[in-house]
Amino acid sequence: MEIKVVRRIMEANEQHAEVVRRRLREAGVIALNLISAPGSGKTSLIECAIRELKGKVNIGVIEGDPDTTRDAERIARLDVPVVQINTEGGCHLEATMVLRALDEIDLNALQLLFIENVGNLVCPVVFDLGESHRVAVVSAAEGHDKPAKYPALFRTAQVTVLNKVDLIPYLDFDESQFTADVRRLNPDMPILRVSCRTGEGMAEWVRWLEGLLNKEAVMQ
Ligand code: MG
Ligand code: ZN
Repeated sequence: MEIKVVRRIMEANEQHAEVVRRRLREAGVIALNLISAPGSGKTSLIECAIRELKGKVNIGVIEGDPDTTRDAERIARLDVPVVQINTEGGCHLEATMVLRALDEIDLNALQLLFIENVGNLVCPVVFDLGESHRVAVVSAAEGHDKPAKYPALFRTAQVTVLNKVDLIPYLDFDESQFTADVRRLNPDMPILRVSCRTGEGMAEWVRWLEGLLNKEAVMQ
């Protein structure tokens, strides 16, 4: 009985994700689902992309948060449309929440939409939000064992962003092990080494985003 209930939730999520995907496609919007543990720097990565692409690319943000509006307030300061999804303690976003958030955004005015998932490496991976691409964010401070321990995220992501690389000299972070584990799970996935604090690697992050937008422009 319990299994049936779970399956029905997942089926409903798939249907909602398809609606999200269709709406994004019709509006020509690329949507990125950022998944990570709490504190890995998802909001900072989004802020950096907005600063770099402002005036060139129209960006919107959906912020998932279990309790506060702090991240949404940070994004709103950059003067881009932002919608907060308060999950009221819930540990992941679901497609139906994104669908409701889309009603609050003028999709036709956007080219790029960031969806910041709730900080959690487990269940966000299971819920398709209808995104175009999935971004796995890990900070070096979390340790090199995250890909080995949470393989599903790295198997299903299209890019891994390793943040806080400026801290590596002070940590027992085995980067070659980290890279080998990511490669084993997803051989062709780019791994971007960045530090939101020092700005290292931000050009590569922005170039990766621009690559997606150029591909989309060719297809239109
Ligand atoms: Mg955040
Ligand atoms: Zn959850």
